[in-house]
Amino acid sequence: MPQKHPAQSPTHRPQLELPPRLALDTLQRGHAAWLQAHQKGLPAPAPLERPSGAGRYVVAVLACADCDADLAERLGLHRRDLFELRAPGPFVSPEDVAMLRRLVLQERLSLVVVLGHRRCEVLAPKRPVPKDDLLAARLQPIAALAQHQQQPLLTAFLHWQRRSLLAADDALRAAADADRLRVVTAELDTESGAIQWLLQPIDTLPMPPVAVPPPGK
Ligand SMILES: [Zn+2]
Repeated sequence: MPQKHPAQSPTHRPQLELPPRLALDTLQRGHAAWLQAHQKGLPAPAPLERPSGAGRYVVAVLACADCDADLAERLGLHRRDLFELRAPGPFVSPEDVAMLRRLVLQERLSLVVVLGHRRCEVLAPKRPVPKDDLLAARLQPIAALAQHQQQPLLTAFLHWQRRSLLAADDALRAAADADRLRVVTAELDTESGAIQWLLQPIDTLPMPPVAVPPPGK
C-alpha cells in the first residue's frame, strides 16, 4: 500500500482562495436577487454572505464615474466586500492598474469587473465636443474599431479597457493566465437596472475538477 502523502490527507480544509468563477457566481446571484426585488418594487435584499476563501475583497469593480448606482447593493454584496474604482468611461488609468496589482498580489483579489453603462456621457458626449477634448481623442480609435467590428461602441470600449488593463501589468496577466484572476466586462442598463455580463469564452468555462483523495487514504 503506498504511503499516504501528507498533502493528500485533509479532506475538509477551509478553502484558502476564492476561485474567480465562484466570485463571479456570487455577484451574479446577488444581482439576480436585487433585480427581482427591484422589478417587484421591493426593498433590496440583504447582502450575501462573503464566500469562503475570499481575500480582503470579493471583487474590484472599475465603473464609470457618472453611473449613478449603488454597486454593492446591485451586486448583493456588503459594502466592505467591494473595492470600487470610478473613472470616466471607465478608462483604465495607471493608478487603477497599480492598485489592482497590489490587491491581486497582496490581498488575493480574484475578480475584476469593468462596468460601463448605457447612455454614457463619456461615450456619447453632447455636441459640439470642445476642441482638444482628451476623452474624445482617446475614444476615436475605439469608435473606429467598433465600427470595423460592427459592435456597439460600449461593448468595444469595455473590451478595449479590459485588454488595456491586462496588457499594462505582467503580474495581472500572469494571474489571469493561471486563472487566479479574471477580468470581466459588464454593461449596466440604467433604465431597467439590469447588468449584462459580457463574458469572454474563458469566463464561462466550468471550474476545473477538484482533486479528491482516493477512498481509504
Ligand atoms: Zn458614463
